[in-house]
Amino acid sequence: MMHVLIIGSGLAGYITAKEIRAANPDVSIDMICQDQGDFYSKPLLSTSLHQNKQPDDLITHTAREMAERYQMTIHAQEKVESIIPEKQRVKTNRAEHRYDRLVLATGAIPRTINDQWETIQGVSHINHLDDYRTFRHRLKQKQSVTIIGSGLVGVEYANDLLLSQHSVNMISLLPYPLYGLVPEAIGLAMLDNLMSKSLNWIQTAGVSDIQSKHAICVTTQENQTIQSDQVLLATGFIPNTTLAKSAQLNCDQGILTNQFSQTNHPNIFAVGDCAQSPNGIEFYISAIRKSAYAIARNLNTVNTPIQSKLTPIVIKSPLYPVVVCFKNNQRVGTWEVDGDDSNFTGRLFDQSGQRIGFALSGDHTTERQTLITWLDG
Ligand SMILES: Cc1cc2nc3c(=O)[nH]c(=O)nc-3n(C[C@H](O)[C@H](O)[C@H](O)COP(=O)(O)OP(=O)(O)OC[C@H]3O[C@@H](n4cnc5c(N)ncnc54)[C@H](O)[C@@H]3O)c2cc1C
Repeated sequence: MMHVLIIGSGLAGYITAKEIRAANPDVSIDMICQDQGDFYSKPLLSTSLHQNKQPDDLITHTAREMAERYQMTIHAQEKVESIIPEKQRVKTNRAEHRYDRLVLATGAIPRTINDQWETIQGVSHINHLDDYRTFRHRLKQKQSVTIIGSGLVGVEYANDLLLSQHSVNMISLLPYPLYGLVPEAIGLAMLDNLMSKSLNWIQTAGVSDIQSKHAICVTTQENQTIQSDQVLLATGFIPNTTLAKSAQLNCDQGILTNQFSQTNHPNIFAVGDCAQSPNGIEFYISAIRKSAYAIARNLNTVNTPIQSKLTPIVIKSPLYPVVVCFKNNQRVGTWEVDGDDSNFTGRLFDQSGQRIGFALSGDHTTERQTLITWLDG
């Protein structure tokens, strides 16, 4: 019987386990994770405050329930320390495990801006449920929060905090939120909407210091000091390639895979935030679903490529709804925008005039299906 070993119990690990079980009733599956292995949906971390959910409410199934559901063995709180591809084995802090096929689903790690600042109590990165528990435990009613970073994650937390009566400062190196993801008109309209809920927006050339005094003080390169009770670092993520690199798997920014989600070692696959497919790095669940589907069908014979189905990304920003969609993860091109007030449709074209993406905002988000058809055309 083929034995599949999955490292990681995030959405990538579990969606892959689900797909493998559905396509291969006869394989045995083990999962190893350094956390508790309980199932939760990470995207809900940035919406649960205004939905009055506690961190533990996000756990929909325990590791034990997941193990039963997909008939697999889960080794929780066990850290993989090395992979030995030539022996088809992994070593953990507790044991050695054999595999026929290995799936790396080790996620991403937060991009660090300064090691020292990040040890200050009240300054947090949120990558996993445990980080979120700590953040929520510290966050008292109506406290002020400074978010550093204005990308998707920063914008979603800003929405959640503002809707929950917190005062929010957002420090950004870029001229408007969601820069690089939406056209300027939508970014500026997002900013207007957030500021109408009292967001304090600070554009800066950089953060020069963070110190904990009576409050947490963030100083910018222009010598402006912003005080708040908490600081949330939303400075992005980088794929976790540590194990893969130590096993000499080919890595660029992420663990490199071909269009079949396979690494340069034929028995090892990579999926989720740790992986870099021919489409590049995609920190989205739609990318996980497509890779997981392919992996489940490629365990014996490698012939199912990652599907190229278009899947829109919904920014969870109730204050100003935005949906974006890109063909093969291409985001660099020229936007053509129409609309008025704060309801926009942006169409993205590459250098040769090919359609490569769209962004919709406000009332125009209802046009999603029409724009998918346009992009597919
Ligand atoms: C706030 C927020 C909102 C988001 N919203 C959306 C959204 O609306 N839509 C969307 O598509 N995407 C969204 N995303 C992105 C999406 O959540 C991620 O792409 C996805 O959750 C990544 O899952 P993963 O399993 O690859 O990584 P992770 O969830 O990070 O899981 C990694 C796993 O690997 C384990 N691990 C790592 N190293 C080891 C080791 N050495 N030994 C054992 N175990 C190990 C960890 O313990 C963990 O179980 C959001 C992300 C964030 C942070």
